[in-house]
Amino acid sequence: MSQEPRERTNGESDGAAGGESDVTYEQARWSEGEAYEPLLIEKDATSVSVDSSLPDELTRDELELPAMREPEVTRHYTRLSQMNYGVDSGPIPLGSCTMKYNPRFTEDVAAHRGNRVHPLRADDDKQGILRLLYELQETLATIGGMDAVTLQPPAGAAGEFTGIQVAKAYHEANGDDRSEVIVPESAHGTNFASAAMAGYDVVELPSNDDGRVGVEALEAAVSDETALLMLTNPNTLGLFERSIEKIAELVHDAGGLLYYDGANLNSLLGKARPGDMGFDIMHFNLHKTFATPHGGGGPGQGPIGVRGDLAPFLPTPQVREGEGEGGCETYEPEHSIGRVHEFMGNWLVLVKAYAYILRHGDEGLENVSETAVLNANYLAERIEYDVPYGPFHHEFVASADSDAADVAKGMLDHGVHPPTTKWPEIVDEALMTEPTETESKARLDDLAAAFNAVAATDPETLAETPATTAARRIDQASAARTPRLSWHTLE
Ligand SMILES: *Cc1c(COP(=O)(O)O)cnc(C)c1O
Repeated sequence: MSQEPRERTNGESDGAAGGESDVTYEQARWSEGEAYEPLLIEKDATSVSVDSSLPDELTRDELELPAMREPEVTRHYTRLSQMNYGVDSGPIPLGSCTMKYNPRFTEDVAAHRGNRVHPLRADDDKQGILRLLYELQETLATIGGMDAVTLQPPAGAAGEFTGIQVAKAYHEANGDDRSEVIVPESAHGTNFASAAMAGYDVVELPSNDDGRVGVEALEAAVSDETALLMLTNPNTLGLFERSIEKIAELVHDAGGLLYYDGANLNSLLGKARPGDMGFDIMHFNLHKTFATPHGGGGPGQGPIGVRGDLAPFLPTPQVREGEGEGGCETYEPEHSIGRVHEFMGNWLVLVKAYAYILRHGDEGLENVSETAVLNANYLAERIEYDVPYGPFHHEFVASADSDAADVAKGMLDHGVHPPTTKWPEIVDEALMTEPTETESKARLDDLAAAFNAVAATDPETLAETPATTAARRIDQASAARTPRLSWHTLE
């Protein structure tokens, strides 16, 4: 590790947020020359020798795994974690992603040994687990204003795909052949992808001047080919779709269904329900709204809720209360679309979400959305970038006057994670910012200070940032297209 002394003055801010950021923050780095922590195999190339009582013809002499002592392995991973930035290091205001801090008590609940039951055991042997699944199902239905919920889809995008399959099965059962799904231009990319994967033609709906769905544009787009309109509310600009009742009426009158992308539920929790707005199907991103760790590949969980007449099409198995003695049982809905995941999905994510909901209770969940909305609006007021729309719910989209990617890189040097950049495309050089309810006023001031320090930095200097991170500017295109995920590929 570099031996240079580091300065770190990341204390409570003292109202300096309007102007300068006095925070310097440096990540651990291996050395000036080599940018990375050596791989285990590079530190010690001996392989694991195999000593086994199995017949010789069934075993190998060596495994291509580095043979290391436990302290070396532990130190390796700890050093890697010090080169990283996570929500346990500081705020991550990535708009749309809802990167709230994940409270530790849910980990304790998930670690309880009662959760370790083989999923193939008979229903009678896992009554506690079925009870939890049933109660979570019912609780989510209440929160969303839906009649039935399946917990099975493993992510929001998988929930979208499942919801579209349910809508398709419903239309087909009604002898109704429809070919189109309408998606607003500001929607998340997964909405377009899920609809296309399900075999629908995607009709893109332009936004109004105020950043919302235009009723006239919708009137022109909707027809007897419309299977579904996918919408998130508030939308990705953080704006509430005020015409939602009119929108629902237009889609329903044309025989279509209304799908709610639940990624923004953090702004409505305990205040308003998608079902009451006229939505027929929705997904919940448990890993966003109900705080389980996500990013870096998951796991998450994306249950969907539906209105009553769509329930027979939900994936199998479902859980319900059985006859007598208050026990629970699994069953297959009458016209089920089948399975979308093995067993019930990522079970421990469900446990954490359930624990999170119970710990908060009704008032606590309301407080989550109130604070999320307050925090976003406070931060939007404090930053010096132009914020073209409003008023906001739980997130806002600012416009960088220079390259939004440079702004993001510059913010890294101030010890905070940057917002989502360049999306939604309706805003030039978008900085889509969602501080979430878990950040204190002091941390919001840090974020504002970082935004404002970068806004005051000239573009040439900004183009050279970040200077304090473990990795500087990486080749993002290659990292995404030709990732080298195994040490084999380095050889
Ligand atoms: C995150 C997100 C999704 C997709 O959810 P995943 O759980 O990441 O698959 C869909 N829509 C919006 C608006 C999102 O923010």
